[in-house]
Amino acid sequence: MKYELTVGLETHIELSTKSKMFCSCSTAFAGAPNTQCCPVCLGLPGSLPVMNRYAVELAVMAGLALNCKVANTSYMDRKNYSYPDLPKAYQISQYDVPLCIGGYLELQSGKKIRITRIHIEEDAGKLVHKEKETLIDYNRCGVPLIEIVTEPDFCTVDEVREYVETLQHLMRYIGVSDCRMQEGSMRCDVNVSVRLKGTDALGTRTEIKNMNSVANMVRAIEYEYTRQCELLEKEQSVTQDTLRYVEETGKTSPMRSKEDARDYRFFREPDLLSVSVSDEEIKAIKDKIPELPKDKIKRYIQTFGLTEADANHLIKYRRISEYFDEVARLSKSPKTGAKFIIGQMFSLFSTEAQKEAFAVRVTPESLATLVNLLADGKINSNLAKTTLEQMLITGKSADELLSAEDMAALSEADLDSLCKRAVESNTGAVADYKGGKEKAIMALVGFVMRESRGKANPESAKEKLKEIIK
Ligand SMILES: [Zn+2]
Repeated sequence: MKYELTVGLETHIELSTKSKMFCSCSTAFAGAPNTQCCPVCLGLPGSLPVMNRYAVELAVMAGLALNCKVANTSYMDRKNYSYPDLPKAYQISQYDVPLCIGGYLELQSGKKIRITRIHIEEDAGKLVHKEKETLIDYNRCGVPLIEIVTEPDFCTVDEVREYVETLQHLMRYIGVSDCRMQEGSMRCDVNVSVRLKGTDALGTRTEIKNMNSVANMVRAIEYEYTRQCELLEKEQSVTQDTLRYVEETGKTSPMRSKEDARDYRFFREPDLLSVSVSDEEIKAIKDKIPELPKDKIKRYIQTFGLTEADANHLIKYRRISEYFDEVARLSKSPKTGAKFIIGQMFSLFSTEAQKEAFAVRVTPESLATLVNLLADGKINSNLAKTTLEQMLITGKSADELLSAEDMAALSEADLDSLCKRAVESNTGAVADYKGGKEKAIMALVGFVMRESRGKANPESAKEKLKEIIK
């Protein structure tokens, strides 16, 4: 292909505040339509906005996690446009002096996707189009948002996918947003252009608005890439359009012009002061950010010897990784702890919400105790597994469930006599082994394991048996 793809993203993320950006209305999702509104978010005359300080804090946190520079002073502006989802006929946003500038998000490959800016703004209401009428729900009006704008640094759909998924995970992890694309708390506008390979100048771009799933984004970009390449092949030009993606057809189509009013007549919001964040405040917010997922993965691999896949598994949900951190701190073998969590504990949950909540009846202390019993050789892995099963069901500790007999290690003398009995009662297998069938020894090992109720170490038993038979 002689053309190459260039993509830039603008991602809107709703911040996890309890109340709206400029009033005390609830931000809860899925409330009955128009029940979470007041004169401020409905833009009634005489009402005045008051800035939600926690929203600013979350936005700063997002900026720091994305390596941005946070402005000590930034400004709120009015973005004027008239559309039914916006009762004030303007949106309070940030224009020329945003809260954060100049960051990046690093992909697995080491490529850095540059972040131009992050600004804060309020969300608009939601229009519900019916066959003959359009309904309006203003509950979402005034919900705090950040918009994260990247440079046109993406060259493939895979890079776009990785960026969106990494950003989503990071924002959830540090508690900035739940980033639920299907509920609209994370939405992307995608700028797509193509240019001849090897040229520097960007081609004319089109903007696909409001994408709410990664799969649709990928399809929309691929469609747009092909469409633009075909136009250029025919020596026609790409027009700078705002498009919507139509899921049913898999195609993009231009939006009505009133949804694309370009002249927003920005000016400073006269009802609000500038946004001030001191260096001390920035530092205090920085201290609240937990260890970031990419650093944590590195630590899990280097310090605990976990595989990359296991480390990724554990950090996918913050609660689970914090649970593991506790187990790792208290136990002698973090690796074994990880195995229990990823294996037996994960299998209890099927939905994303369940994994996110990670409600297990076993405390990290209790799991660490079990891990240590195994690490000290007091119980074997089979017994550990069945014990954990019981712990998860009953909520009891390993100490409560295991008897003294369970935990008494098999003595050398006991192993010796068990192995002797194994040889005496399995003459056939012994003959086979002597005859050169190496595998026949496993029948004897099986006997020892059964008789010791799983307490014997299979490797030691095998060695001992070989000695006796010799
Ligand atoms: Zn309100």
